[in-house]
Amino acid sequence: MPLLELENVTKHFPVFGGVFRRMVGKVHAVTEVSFSLEKGETLGLVGESGSGKSTLGRSILRLSDPISGSIRFEGKDLVSMGARELKHTRQHMQMIFQDPFSSVDPRMTVGSIVEEPLRIHGIGNNETRREKAAELLEKVGIQPESIRQYPHEFSGGQRQRIGIARAIALKPKLIIADEPVSALDVSIQSQILNLLKEIREEMNLACIFIAHNMAVVKHISDRIAVMYAGRIVELGESESVCQDPRHPYTKALISSIPVPRPGKKNKKQILQGDVPSPLNPPRGCAFHLRCPHVEEICKREIPPLNENKVHPEKPHWVACHLQ
Ligand code: SF4
Repeated sequence: MPLLELENVTKHFPVFGGVFRRMVGKVHAVTEVSFSLEKGETLGLVGESGSGKSTLGRSILRLSDPISGSIRFEGKDLVSMGARELKHTRQHMQMIFQDPFSSVDPRMTVGSIVEEPLRIHGIGNNETRREKAAELLEKVGIQPESIRQYPHEFSGGQRQRIGIARAIALKPKLIIADEPVSALDVSIQSQILNLLKEIREEMNLACIFIAHNMAVVKHISDRIAVMYAGRIVELGESESVCQDPRHPYTKALISSIPVPRPGKKNKKQILQGDVPSPLNPPRGCAFHLRCPHVEEICKREIPPLNENKVHPEKPHWVACHLQ
């Protein structure tokens, strides 16, 4: 049984307007997303901002309830779960944010922040929680003596390390990392990615790694799902998606990855136009307004996510009428 299974998960936000605040439209943030994740596996979720990846991450943890579809964690449906059972199950699913301290009280010390999940779930006493916090900080490369300091005393990379210590405090089985390195300098990014990789391997953690940068996602993922306008348009093993992308949007993302060999460059494909408004997505394939290969059918029909059999030994799915 997979650790996590999503089936046709859809999240639309209503938009209200007029004198009577009636619903006048909806934002199509995530539409009919399905995939599964095995124990210890990392799935990279990549796409431009506004593609629905963060909303999907929040929906999986039910920080934002999906309007339809099912999300099963170890076979249990999270969508229909009551508050008590959900709180218990959330011990096993944690989130790492771009700014790990955006949602915590800045007057809390680093020690209190790291031990807070243990406190919420009634694990240990003050003394054992403090010891655990010091141990976790050491594990992520922060001096355990920093326990009495405040988040503003640390650099961006150190703050992200502390965020990771907090996320692993309850020994979760799944981590959803939402753009965890996009606000960091490139040199610090690789340190944090390596730390995440080490921890993931040591704890056999499954991870959904959300980012807009294909180079970053490629570095850490076993499989990659490419999102565009709220839907998955390509899904497959990391190597297969990066070396033989089938969807025109994925091809454009891959072409933007710098090649680390002097004198060699990727032929960069510049996409024309903008991501369509999620308030009013175009008919047919949402990418058709920017696609260099658009045909009549693309303007009428949404392409389903079908298995692409070019490399039968490497499962790969693509949503494009021409594949
Ligand atoms: Fe381009 Fe058509 Fe494929 Fe969409 S379905 S990506 S518009 S070729």
